[in-house]
Amino acid sequence: MLESKRILVIITGSIAAYKSLELIRLLTKAGATVEGVLTRGGAAFITPLSVATLTGTKAHLEMWDDDASKMPHIELSRNADLIVAAPATADFIAKMARGIGDDLASTVLLARNKPVILAPSMNVEMWENPAFRRNLDLVQKDGARVIAPQTDVLACGESGFGKMAEPESIFDAIQEHFERSYSLKGKRAIVTAGGTIERIDSVRYISNFSSGKQGFAISEALADAGAEVELIAGNTTAKIPLHPRINVTTVESAKQMKQVVDDALPSDIFVGCAAVCDFRVSNRADRKIKKDDGLELEFELNPDIIASIGSLPRNQRPQLVIGFAAETNNVLGYAKKKLESKSCDLIVANDVSEGAVFGRDENEVHFVSKDEILKLAKMSKSELSRSITDWIVDRLACVSP
Ligand code: C5P
Repeated sequence: MLESKRILVIITGSIAAYKSLELIRLLTKAGATVEGVLTRGGAAFITPLSVATLTGTKAHLEMWDDDASKMPHIELSRNADLIVAAPATADFIAKMARGIGDDLASTVLLARNKPVILAPSMNVEMWENPAFRRNLDLVQKDGARVIAPQTDVLACGESGFGKMAEPESIFDAIQEHFERSYSLKGKRAIVTAGGTIERIDSVRYISNFSSGKQGFAISEALADAGAEVELIAGNTTAKIPLHPRINVTTVESAKQMKQVVDDALPSDIFVGCAAVCDFRVSNRADRKIKKDDGLELEFELNPDIIASIGSLPRNQRPQLVIGFAAETNNVLGYAKKKLESKSCDLIVANDVSEGAVFGRDENEVHFVSKDEILKLAKMSKSELSRSITDWIVDRLACVSP
């Protein structure tokens, strides 16, 4: 699995640095090509020579190279498939969260275009410090995977959470990362995201507060798993994902969204995450309605996009059709009904009784399918997207190459 994989290991200043040598050894033994970057702190604990000996290539420490044509902070990320910071100190994670690039390691992360895995290592009080927790939250929201530390007697003599995960566990997480990135290879997915806009006249519209965050996160998780994703986005405020396997089309109304979805078929997977307006204005004006004209709106029903996909004949229907349900009461009852009425394979049911989920970064959901109801813990929209992707992978029973 790791043959032909290129992994950049960043070693920052913690006593756990000695374990990163073992990690490098495990990676190279498994066939990976490894390059090492040390911060000044990292180099205080282990020598660049040890890293160079185990990777078989020069260890990188400096931002600047005498050869002006070389830009290590750019090249190191471009030449890697994955970046692993082990150990990752609180300071390093803080820099990453805030976008500070004041040495080679932090600047590589700032200039990166590759996924990142972090193996934090620190004293228990540092781990629990609210400022650190904010930074850890931020880097996770930005997509970094964190391998949780362990509880033990720490090098400082205090005991608690903070000891870096063992090299074997970090190695397993790296392997799992690559396995995941092949699990949907060759599959096509259509994802709808954001709210639709239904015009009232040439300057006014009806919409909703959907940010597009969840749909974007799902698109990224599916693309990270190897799928080719057609992302069809309505009105959104979140940052549209940039990913080589995500093709984005923006639309305005539910009618347009349905048209673009139909044009994007066939597909193996359909995830309807958009907050589609149920109604559109049937007496919409093509000019600005003046106050004196008065306003009396008439509505007609919009097409139910997901129901139309779910009920396609077997040879045209995506293998898996997944919908969302945000409810304030009887969440599971309504979700089960939607599963049937919209002919879905999975409804991700969300209790929104305690405030809107729109625009928030976290979600707490149930997976409702024909066979089971699964309660998931509260998690970030990115983590939830990975859980949905795992569910999809299990159902499609994809075999890794
Ligand atoms: O019926 P309700 O709007 O609660 O259902 C939500 C699910 O149905 C979401 O997955 C949403 O994307 C989808 N939907 C749709 N077309 C509509 C309305 C909802 O695809 N017109």
